[in-house]
Amino acid sequence: MKIYNSATHMKEDFKPNHPDIVKMYTCGPTVYHFAHIGNLRSYIMEDVLEKALRFEGYNVKRVMNITDVGHLASDADTGEDKMLKGARREHKSVMEIARFYTDAFFADCEKLNIKRPDVVEPATNCIEDYIRIITKLMDTGYAYFAGGNVYFDTSKLKKYYIFNDFEADDLDVGVREGVEEDTNKRNKNDFVLWFTKSKFEDQALKWDSPWGVGYPGWHIECSGISMKHLGEDLDIHCGGIDNAFPHHTNEIAQSESYLGHKWCNYWMHVHHLNTTSGKMSKSSGEFLTVSLLEEKGYDPLAYRFFCLQSHYRRNLVFSWENLDNAAAAYKKLVARVAALKDDPAAQADEAMLQTLKEKFDAAIGNDLNTSLAITAVYDALKADTDDKTKLAAIDAYDTVLGLSLRAAAEKLRAEEEKSDDTDPAVAALLEQRAAAKKAKNWAEADRIRDEVAAMGYRIIDTPQGPKAEKI
Ligand code: AMP
Ligand code: ZN
Repeated sequence: MKIYNSATHMKEDFKPNHPDIVKMYTCGPTVYHFAHIGNLRSYIMEDVLEKALRFEGYNVKRVMNITDVGHLASDADTGEDKMLKGARREHKSVMEIARFYTDAFFADCEKLNIKRPDVVEPATNCIEDYIRIITKLMDTGYAYFAGGNVYFDTSKLKKYYIFNDFEADDLDVGVREGVEEDTNKRNKNDFVLWFTKSKFEDQALKWDSPWGVGYPGWHIECSGISMKHLGEDLDIHCGGIDNAFPHHTNEIAQSESYLGHKWCNYWMHVHHLNTTSGKMSKSSGEFLTVSLLEEKGYDPLAYRFFCLQSHYRRNLVFSWENLDNAAAAYKKLVARVAALKDDPAAQADEAMLQTLKEKFDAAIGNDLNTSLAITAVYDALKADTDDKTKLAAIDAYDTVLGLSLRAAAEKLRAEEEKSDDTDPAVAALLEQRAAAKKAKNWAEADRIRDEVAAMGYRIIDTPQGPKAEKI
């Protein structure tokens, strides 16, 4: 399997450190708000990577943190903690906010068929791990105490910038808001490992430490959590591209200085989902969620399909038109799978199945070429073989693509049987509502739904389009 490694700027053959396990770490969400569909693009593609590794026969252990402390609103280590900001916005405690948005994140992941990592660890659970690492960094001269905070001294490194082949825009956007100079720093890239003095004295969560009562910086949490669950080496570390600098750069600096050896072999970065006006971000306040897509009648898996149609190392522009096209293509694909006959008595043609799987393997194993992998699904549908073999190939592909093609096809068949006896007047209203939605006339679409309800039917938006069901 080949994967592009951001640390070497090359597509490389993937070779894990240990024969029996691939150690994979993913930067988790900052749980101060709902995840937007941009964040979820990153998690979808990381999910595809994990599933592709499993498809290739690897055993994977994947760890994800939940950022519930330390992620500041500005990169300059002077901004307010994002969690505190969320708590203030909603008049709740930081822990209440963290619990609510963590649950919301995993509910979204489930709808998008994103597998839950083997280990999910909130940052607030591992304070002792960060203190142990920071203590050694202080003892070995990689860290210093100034103005009440502990900083990492980047001048002690032979090489600081690792990921320097990205577009300036990708490094800047979303991480540089409200930058203020911190006069305690010896070098401009130094970063906080432990805060005891912040402009924001009402920081809710604080712990005792050798440097005073305070809280950890954001970067140290990923090093600490990774080492706690995966030990002193890592095969693959993933994240969105805005994490490459400074977050991942700082993770490498502190981890390798602490360990005294190389830490992680492969770095996989997912490029951004952009709106027509730039990167989708939580801090801008204008973002789309999975629930919003559902309210508008989209199947979350149509969004997954939309993401898989493009390569993870290219920015992806979101527009309703693009999503409509993907939703229509997904719907057609499901209908084609539904048309195949699954004869329980038949046997798949093993030789043909092997050939079909190899085609898929060549696509997904080439730095996750998901659009070619989707083409492999169409090729299987067209292949000169029986339905049983086609279905077996599609089932195998779907363990990586995660499009629930078989389940959606079965649902479609069941709905088709049920909808045969729908009142023709209701069927006409369904068509009018579809036209209203296409014209983005949401008020009219809602009015028609109420009219249909008054006639004793409930409208269900399915991947195959709206259906009416007797109440
Ligand atoms: P956060 O919750 O802000 O810590 O971000 C969670 C993940 O989403 C990180 O891996 C980010 O790099 C990633 N991310 C943030 N914005 C976008 C975007 N517009 N497109 C793709 N990934 C993103
Ligand atoms: Zn991280």
